[in-house]
Amino acid sequence: MKKRCFTFPELVFTLTALSAMALVLFSGIFHIRERAKGELCRSQLEAFGKMTLSYNETYGTVPLTPLWDTGKKLVSTHNLYLYWRVGLIPKEKGIGSPGNCFFAKDYFCPSLLERKNVSSKTASDGALLYSSNCSYGVRRDTRNVNEGKKNLWEKDYFDLAALNSPATFNLYGCATRRTTGRAIRFYFSRLAGGNTDFLASAHEGKAGIWAPDGHTEFIDRDTLEKTFGGNARCWNE
Ligand SMILES: [Zn+2]
Repeated sequence: MKKRCFTFPELVFTLTALSAMALVLFSGIFHIRERAKGELCRSQLEAFGKMTLSYNETYGTVPLTPLWDTGKKLVSTHNLYLYWRVGLIPKEKGIGSPGNCFFAKDYFCPSLLERKNVSSKTASDGALLYSSNCSYGVRRDTRNVNEGKKNLWEKDYFDLAALNSPATFNLYGCATRRTTGRAIRFYFSRLAGGNTDFLASAHEGKAGIWAPDGHTEFIDRDTLEKTFGGNARCWNE
């Protein structure tokens, strides 16, 4: 009996069909996974935002006075943003000193955490904690420190209730970039380095942000520049 083999065109057709099916399947799975990470990111940003608003309601400022009490004075803008974030996070949720903290997963964009090689430590209870260098960014204030107003680290400098347009003021977001160049004004950005902008690509070309009116949004770089002020907006323009 003659053995039946695929002819060459049949073989080509079969392989093409299979690879097309595989492509559809894998890209479908990829998008589902990306969407899930985006939703997780959104809910984390919302939780972070709620903590901020409730702190602000009580104290009339964002938490510059760190709950993470080291007795150190805030002396630089570099530390300012870190202290701000650290002030929101219960101490038992992190280890390290304010300059070099390690936090639980909830304080990081899940997409960026997966993509970057973020350094980690294991806490005494066995929990894996990640370097704060890559946790959610805090928007920079572009106002000069010495313009006759309060210094950056003084109480009530950052009262969210006093913002003119809280819906267009992006306060937290998926990190970030290192330079103080144009467009993206999030801190904390060490993971990016140079001019590389990871913010805009965190979630399929967009980044999650939280604004002090309580809403979260996924925006591209252009929208961030146009609606949210890019590098030009000061604290309360
Ligand atoms: Zn994110």
